[in-house]
Formats: sequence, structure tokens, C-alpha cells
Amino acid sequence: MNIRILAASLLFAPLLSLAQSSEFAADPDRLEARIQALGEFGANPEGGVSRVAFSDADMAGREYIKRLMQDAGLTVRVDAAGNIIGRREGEQEGLPPIMIGSHIDSVPGGGNYDGDVGVIGAIEVAQLLAERGVRLQHPLEVVSFTDEEGGLTGSRAMIGKLTPAGMEVMTHSGMTVREGIRRVGGDPDRIVQAARRPGDIAAFVELHIEQGAFLHDEDIDIGVVEGIVGIRWWDVTINGLANHAGTTPMDKRQDAMVSAAELVLAVNRVAREIPGRHVATVGRIQALPGAPNVIPGEVVLSLEIRDLEAEKMQQVFDRISAEAAGIAAERSTPIEFHEVDVASPPAPTDLQMRRIISAVSEELGLSFKLMPSGAGHDAQDMATIAPTGMIFVPSVDGISHSPREFTSPADMANGATVLLNTVLAIDGGALE
Ligand SMILES: [Zn+2]
Repeated sequence: MNIRILAASLLFAPLLSLAQSSEFAADPDRLEARIQALGEFGANPEGGVSRVAFSDADMAGREYIKRLMQDAGLTVRVDAAGNIIGRREGEQEGLPPIMIGSHIDSVPGGGNYDGDVGVIGAIEVAQLLAERGVRLQHPLEVVSFTDEEGGLTGSRAMIGKLTPAGMEVMTHSGMTVREGIRRVGGDPDRIVQAARRPGDIAAFVELHIEQGAFLHDEDIDIGVVEGIVGIRWWDVTINGLANHAGTTPMDKRQDAMVSAAELVLAVNRVAREIPGRHVATVGRIQALPGAPNVIPGEVVLSLEIRDLEAEKMQQVFDRISAEAAGIAAERSTPIEFHEVDVASPPAPTDLQMRRIISAVSEELGLSFKLMPSGAGHDAQDMATIAPTGMIFVPSVDGISHSPREFTSPADMANGATVLLNTVLAIDGGALE
């Protein structure tokens, strides 16, 4: 623990003791009841939800969230991107808001916790502050972002990066993003009005389920997210020589499929050999012409690499590329890598924010660990314009994007209590 965090810890120690008293901790029963109520909108027979953005279920869920925000004493508006924003003013004039929240749209056939815990948890924070009559120095904004699952639509707009082309993308609702934004009360023609600039938001904190099994397996209460991993994709083309599978002897072949098999194994081996938490995956493969009696003349496969550090992703790629060159020479099958333009850079969370969330967890007697997020979140956008932190709570068995997704009421309450105390610490100057 260095001097700065010690100072921060001292700074919010009185607030922590206030929050630690049972009457100022998140209410697991209220959280659970609201998660279940929200789960009614778009409920599917398997016990989860299909509440894709802009659908009727999403519309109904959004109305429920607006009511909860109003009940928590928030003034509710919908911005130009359709983000629902509930605000309570701060004590001190002119300070930028502290923003907390997540999303309530789901994937088709999704569960009741992904995103929902972060929105319901953020409302819980606002409600606890209102019930106890605590005024913050900063304004507080609780946000439910539009269409997270369709490509971080709402947060992308909030950082000024939702393009006209991005608004023409078709969504699972059968509407384009543009049509969807209009349906939920946004204004796609004035999308720039949703944009905030660096300095406009004092801090952004997102509570979310882990969607992996690290916390559950290790029985840890809180994940302090170090950042959202970056993603790079390549189309890899292996050129061989298509020839008759019956008449071409084994030593006279330029078999693109055999080279592809070696490359797939090399990707896995290289990723395991280099120390770190990066991952590398070949998830798609196609052989041409694709007939049982023809030696494949061409194979196209995908390569995906993810990590928190751009340099590490490049290092893994360079090693794979070198292995590929060896395979290509050995088998006379040239291998070309073409990077696909879907890359999202790594989005580290704010260092100071990680320290605050860790210190808050510790003070509350909760176990915690620092960890990356392998999945994308609105926080990765927000990290580009505001000091951003992210709090994970355990997903039972690491299951997500499934009706079997589950996080216990106690774990949700732990997360919301950490969120509340993180907000109090930031409001008390812990970020400065
Ligand atoms: Zn999510």
C-alpha cells in the first residue's frame, strides 16, 4: 500500500464506517426481487430472458427501470442515443457527475443477470443515498445504456464514436440501430448531443457479473477489473495446390489442409508457451474446393488474439507468424495473414480506481482479486473519456449468455455495497 492509497483510505474511512453499518448496506432481498421483476420482461421458457435491444420486451423493461429510478429520487431523461439517465444533484455547484450503471438489453436466449445487476445495483446505490438522506458533493448519474449487446451502441454514442454507418447496422429486433434509437425516445439525427467530453464525467463505475468462473471457483467475493482485453482478428489464407486425391502421391502434394492443421496446433502451443493471460483461438476454418476426393488447394481460417496489453498481443502474433513461415516453407504452401478491421484496443481501467475498489472491498471484509475482463463492456468506451472502474461479482459455474446464468442475492448485494462505497470514496476526493 503506497502513500496515496493510504491517504485515500483515511479520507473515506468515516464514510466507510457509515456504510458498514447494516442499515447502509445494499439489500439482497430488494435486489433479488427487482432482478426477478425485470426478468418478467422478455421471459423465455428456459427461465432466462430474450430482451434484445429495441424489442417490445426491451421497451417494457426500460419503463420499469425508469419507474425504479424515479422511486429512488432520480430525475429521469433519455438522451439522444436512447440511454436512460437518472440524476440527483450534488451539494457543490459545477462539479461533473459521478456516473454508475450498465445495460438491461440481453442476447437472444440470455439470462437475468448480465447487465441487469449493474443497473439494479446502481439504482440501489441511489436509493440508499436517498433513504438515508445523504447528499454527495458531486451529482450522481445512474445510466442504463442502449443496446450494449448489439455493439456498445449507447456508450459508443456517449463517447462520440457512434458513426452514421454504425447506425445502419441491423439488430436482432429487426430494426436498424437508427430506427431502434428513435423507437426508445432517442434522436439519431442529433446523436452528437449524447456525446460527453473528457472532464464531463468525474468517474464511471460499472458493476457487472464476471461471466467467467474465476471468482466462483476460487470462492472470491469481488473482482477488481484491471481492464477489458483488446481483440485482434486475422483472416489467414493458406495456398496449396488442388489436385486429384487418388492419383497424387503423398510426397508430391501441396496440401493446404495439412498446413492448416499444423498452424492450428502452433497457435495453441505458442499461446501456452508465452507466459501471461492472453488467449489465441482459431474458431473458423474452410477448405476449398471442399470435396472428399480433392486435395485442398486453399484453406481460409480465422485467428483471434486477446490480451490486456497491445504489446503482448503483437508478441503472440509475431511468434505465430514465424511458426507459419516455417510451415509454409516446409510444405510449399504460402501462408498470408490479413488483419480484419474489427480490432478493439485494450481498455485498462484507472489505476487509482482499482486501488479504491480494492481498499473498499478490504474495509468491508470482502475477499477480492484483480482480474482482466475477457468480455466487452460499456466501461471500455467510458474509459476513453473518464477515470473508469469496474466491479465483478461471481457467476455460478461461470455460465453467462444463457438462461442458466446465476448470481446469488448475497453476491449482488456485496457488489452494490462496494459500488456505493466506491462512489462515496470518489465523492470524498479519493481520485484526486
Ligand atoms: Zn453485459
